[in-house]
Amino acid sequence: MNECAECGRPLTKDEIALTKKLINRGAEKFFCLTCLAKSFSVSEELLKEKIEQFKRMGCTLFL
Ligand SMILES: [Zn+2]
Repeated sequence: MNECAECGRPLTKDEIALTKKLINRGAEKFFCLTCLAKSFSVSEELLKEKIEQFKRMGCTLFL
């Protein structure tokens, strides 16, 4: 089970995929939406929209 490297919260597949997408594909540490939002200074809502957008684009990380 993967946990957020920052706060220890259990991660969803989407959060892991989004970490890879935003940081890099080889990332070994993953972050939850809250911590990703903080480190990129954006809202969690925006990140959720991004996830939906990547899914619509057929990004293979989100399958
Ligand atoms: Zn976190």
